[in-house]
Amino acid sequence: MQSDLTLYNSLSRQKDVFKPIDANNVRMYVCGPTVYDFAHIGNARPVVVFDLLYRLLRDKYGSDHVTYVRNITDIDDKIMNRAAEENIDIMTLTQRTTEYFHADTDALGVLRPNHEPRATEYVEQMIGMISTLMEKEYAYATEGHVLFHTPSMEDYGKLSRRSLDDMIAGARVEVAPFKKDPTDFVLWKPSDNEQMGWQSPWGYGRPGWHIECSAMAGKLLGDTFDIHGGGIDLIFPHHENEIAQSCCTTGKPYVNYWMHNGFLQINGQKMSKSLGNFFTIRQLLTEKNIAGEVVKLLLLRTHYRQPLDWTDDGVTECQNILEKWFSKIEDISEVKAGLPEAVKNALYDDLNMPAAIAEMHHLSPEDLARCLKFLGFEKTLRTGKLSEADIKALIDARNQARADKDFAKSDAIRDQLLEDGVHLKDTRDGTSWTRK
Ligand code: AMP
Ligand code: ZN
Repeated sequence: MQSDLTLYNSLSRQKDVFKPIDANNVRMYVCGPTVYDFAHIGNARPVVVFDLLYRLLRDKYGSDHVTYVRNITDIDDKIMNRAAEENIDIMTLTQRTTEYFHADTDALGVLRPNHEPRATEYVEQMIGMISTLMEKEYAYATEGHVLFHTPSMEDYGKLSRRSLDDMIAGARVEVAPFKKDPTDFVLWKPSDNEQMGWQSPWGYGRPGWHIECSAMAGKLLGDTFDIHGGGIDLIFPHHENEIAQSCCTTGKPYVNYWMHNGFLQINGQKMSKSLGNFFTIRQLLTEKNIAGEVVKLLLLRTHYRQPLDWTDDGVTECQNILEKWFSKIEDISEVKAGLPEAVKNALYDDLNMPAAIAEMHHLSPEDLARCLKFLGFEKTLRTGKLSEADIKALIDARNQARADKDFAKSDAIRDQLLEDGVHLKDTRDGTSWTRK
């Protein structure tokens, strides 16, 4: 008998037994990074947590029967500002940052999603949705903007269950004189001629952030899908607004299970640049020389819904745990990944990783090897230093990009290698490299 997978659903506020709409195609969407800078260690938490869920779903339903979408937000005011500051074009910035994100998350040993849609490639879908919302009178155009009118939706606020006052306070940054209601939110906004934008029925402009996810998720996963995830900060307004846009467009439910990871702090304090406790994944891997597996274990060993405190002691503890586990097992390259029953039971209880780890300490070497492989802990401790094979692969990718005349990409790869101290030299016989 298959045991039930239960997941805490932010919508029902309880642990629900997971029942997919279609067991042949279980569908999950997770909000991905806004690509203007290196991902910080807080951003790595949803990546690692939903990777764990993805692995469980693939195991339960079959690896060809799960579709995991994690978007790339590549149009946003922060991106436009950063590109202007650095005097580079937006595509160069977003492509370079996306490559960094891939390299950093690969170093954590997480699987790539099945689709990584970029918002700029779905603007047509966004305009289509906004047009439908206008036709159905859920939205109105004013001063070049299109706004969603929240009182037009009966159960607006059902995910966050906030009071109207809270919602107004939460939305305050966006309160503009042309809004009919303070909680109305932007679907489309005008761009000036120098800014990135698209032609639309409401003039030259660009989409609001919320509609991006609704459009990408709807296009790739259908009107109603199984799981939607992200950090807890996204419940309001982002996910609340996604529900409003999608349900009002399609007239159907949007998502059955909403899942949110808690926030990561550093030594009990909110991470912030001004406090000097802000770390990117890359800094931890390279400057602090912490192995990707150690980072991942630290991110997983606290239950995903709890706040997570990142400390130096935690790093040492995770390092010790992994060293102990790795010392018990032989090479796992040939091992068949699998979940021992006790570990599976723990993880099926709303991804109870602390309980799973407690079980892992008692496994036989054989079971431990299968389990570590399942979770994506290979028997290495990868640091940020690129291996020779990594470097060769990147050089090949760069040469391919140059052959395709995609110089933004080839430059981004060269910059990425430089970040890791690898210098390239192009000669008539090919590309050689040296480490600084
Ligand atoms: P952003 O690029 O800010 O939109 O964030 C990308 C993802 O990282 C979202 O799912 C956020 O909820 C999540 N996130 C951002 N900061 C933290 C943090 N300190 N702890 C946990 N998750 C975070
Ligand atoms: Zn989103």
